[in-house]
Amino acid sequence: MMDYKEKLTKGSKELGIDLNQSQVEQFLNYMQVLRKWNKKINLTALDKPEEIIVKHFLDSLSCVKGINLVGKEKVIDVGTGAGFPSLPLKIIYPDLALTLLDASKKRVSFLQRVCYKLGLSKVEFIHGRAEDYGQNDDYRERYDYAVARAVASLNVLSEYVVPFVKKEGQFIAQKGPEVEQEVINGEQAIKLLGGKVLKVKEITLPFSEAERRLAIIDKVSSTPVEYPRQAGQPKKKPL
Ligand code: SAM
Repeated sequence: MMDYKEKLTKGSKELGIDLNQSQVEQFLNYMQVLRKWNKKINLTALDKPEEIIVKHFLDSLSCVKGINLVGKEKVIDVGTGAGFPSLPLKIIYPDLALTLLDASKKRVSFLQRVCYKLGLSKVEFIHGRAEDYGQNDDYRERYDYAVARAVASLNVLSEYVVPFVKKEGQFIAQKGPEVEQEVINGEQAIKLLGGKVLKVKEITLPFSEAERRLAIIDKVSSTPVEYPRQAGQPKKKPL
């Protein structure tokens, strides 16, 4: 039977990624710190190494199927939690300029610790709400790519995320099969925010039956100044 390390390397290869030895070690260290901190603070419902490898690491890496990264882009992960999906991407593209944003202080402390342990540089940590930072000129429309997984449905999520993306940049939302309906419900909001759904891409996740999709949204025009609205409003009254 294949052990979890083999699943990491073989699964990555299936996604078109050849991990080197030091990247494999970084992933294993990440898992170790995640499991340790998960005993004290709620980071993930998964604890088994195999599950972490497949449902967190490989699932995050599957974003490469939707983004053509060169490796030096500015990327923000909105509602990153324990670092998904962007930290696995940072391991394979160490020169990315990455911003990790989350409303939970404990999770941001975890992210600082894990990035230090893994020796990752060019990472900015933000403890705060997406709605607040989306109105801050240092962050608004500054990113080539924004990613998000498991934060909110697309109509709400787009108001959190699209304001961060520069014109001609992209927002990649990691979703499940429900995304088709979410795209229909979110189309109006995405348009108002300056976005346009380019496509929904089906993803086959190695060693899993789970159906995964990437919704890829182009930023076609600037986000009007009134968006994002005040913290809490996008969820309370989706556009
Ligand atoms: N993206 C991670 C993943 O896929 O494992 C975490 C998902 S977790 C279910 C949702 C995260 O989004 C939480 O860590 C929460 O604090 C964060 N979050 C929710 N709403 C937010 C907001 N408005 N601004 C910033 N972070 C938010």
